[in-house]
Amino acid sequence: MVDPNDPVVLADDSVIAGLDYWRELPIKQQPAWPDADAVARASAQIASFPPLVFAGEVDILRERLARAASGEAFLLQGGDCAETFAGATADQIRNRVKTLLQMAVVLTYGASMPVIKMGRMAGQFAKPRSSDTETRGDVTLPAYRGDIVNGYDFTPESRRADPARLVEGYHTAASTLNLIRAFTQGGFADLREVHSWNKGFASNPANHRYEQLARDIDKAIRFMEAAGADFDELKRVEFYTGHEGLLMDYERPMTRIDSRTGTPYNTSSHFLWIGERTRDLDGAHVDFLSRVRNPIGVKLGPTTTPETMQKLIDKLDPNREPGRLTFITRMGAGKIRDALPPLLEAIQKTDARPLWVTDPMHGNGITTPNGYKTRRFDDVVDEVKGFFEAHREVGTHPGGIHVELTGDDVTECLGGSEQLDEAALATRYESLCDPRLNHMQSLELAFLVAEELAK
Ligand code: PEP
Ligand code: MN
Repeated sequence: MVDPNDPVVLADDSVIAGLDYWRELPIKQQPAWPDADAVARASAQIASFPPLVFAGEVDILRERLARAASGEAFLLQGGDCAETFAGATADQIRNRVKTLLQMAVVLTYGASMPVIKMGRMAGQFAKPRSSDTETRGDVTLPAYRGDIVNGYDFTPESRRADPARLVEGYHTAASTLNLIRAFTQGGFADLREVHSWNKGFASNPANHRYEQLARDIDKAIRFMEAAGADFDELKRVEFYTGHEGLLMDYERPMTRIDSRTGTPYNTSSHFLWIGERTRDLDGAHVDFLSRVRNPIGVKLGPTTTPETMQKLIDKLDPNREPGRLTFITRMGAGKIRDALPPLLEAIQKTDARPLWVTDPMHGNGITTPNGYKTRRFDDVVDEVKGFFEAHREVGTHPGGIHVELTGDDVTECLGGSEQLDEAALATRYESLCDPRLNHMQSLELAFLVAEELAK
């Protein structure tokens, strides 16, 4: 384990050198820090802080993901597009954890399959942008790159990349993770609390459906208890964290050498993924993440060719290690049925068995005439269905879902059974980046995925 009590272990020099090879390679999506010395100081400070996650946990997650890749478990990943420092409040973190726990219950019950729970949480602070700058009227400023880099306010001071934010990012991740660990280990996630996770959320059709299911679960638990079964296992849940491995001045100092094995682990989160914009085969991000032991995800858009996919496998998972590699497809509802099957068929002809996860959000973005970045719930649902259809057609395993969601009753995505329309978007649109499913839409989606899994 990368444990604070362990003596410092000197890894093989080549391991250390390899870890910094990305510095020689082309790199995308990094901020223009105005003060290089201040960045180096912030990175050194982060390197001295304790790890946020432990190597042993990362290894267990890899085993869990291996089961999902072979069709014996299902991965649920969800959370904000961009976590903010101001949003790291007890209420908001709790609502997101509760939403994920509720979705996981719906999936587990519907599919009779273990669900691996993972938050896009405790580190999802850095964002890739389509342009380095943003122009409003006649003013052009650096684009907002996430709270760990700069501020969202459209002023020169706020938009300047500030290395103090790297350190604040670490501390915000630490306090978020601390609360997640308390919620999931301290009794709150006990399956006997399945009803209480629904409390505090506005009443709606998805909630009612959830209540019914919770009653069934309750009944089953009471029966088992009466029959003398021991329920200690139900008191705690495993809950993992993941974020896009993007900002190298944070990810590199969080990467440590494990004292058991002398190998590097990125201790900023259990799972890291490489975004659609930074997955160049010869680029810095793919090289760096190829060298850490964490399970790695890669986003695959609709133009991905089987050749590119194969090269990503060879680079990121040369040993074909179960659970090591996850492909997160984000194709768009209109494209997935054409774009995904050829990749699945190509994989079938090789010895690689990655975990396949659908991100039904990022291929379905639209902007409304009144200027909101949004997504239609129906498109999200349609992409999920297309994902399951493609896997059924080819005979591969649909292994998980990756969604942008919040536990709050925001109005950011159109549709759902409350039929949010364009005018309603203005009521409570809070995301600084991409639109998220609200609590009700998230539950609805979980019911739908459960049905697909049970087919
Ligand atoms: C994201 O997950 O927020 C994201 C930017 O996704 P992608 O890299 O798939 O565009
Ligand atoms: Mn996003």
